[in-house]
Amino acid sequence: MRPTASPKRLCQNIDPEVFFPEGTNRPAQVAFAQTICRGCPVLRSCAAEALRLGITHGVVASVDLSDPLIRPLEEAKRRLQRVADGRRVC
Ligand code: SF4
Repeated sequence: MRPTASPKRLCQNIDPEVFFPEGTNRPAQVAFAQTICRGCPVLRSCAAEALRLGITHGVVASVDLSDPLIRPLEEAKRRLQRVADGRRVC
């Protein structure tokens, strides 16, 4: 599930698979998804909604929730909170 509250979100017309990178090209795919998020006008509210909904996978609000390097998930949630607070963009 992805945050869907705003019609302004940049990902609305992009293949959702972009935000669920897998395979050997994963780092480049994550970077591409994060670039989209960084330009999104609803970045902060997206992060807040992801926290509210308990989203745990994919690239959301520029945070790679599935990144094994930022597991446990609590660290990913902290990153989402920082984006929601306007203190960080991944
Ligand atoms: S911040 Fe990223 S995941 Fe969230 S609505 Fe915008 S483009 Fe979609």
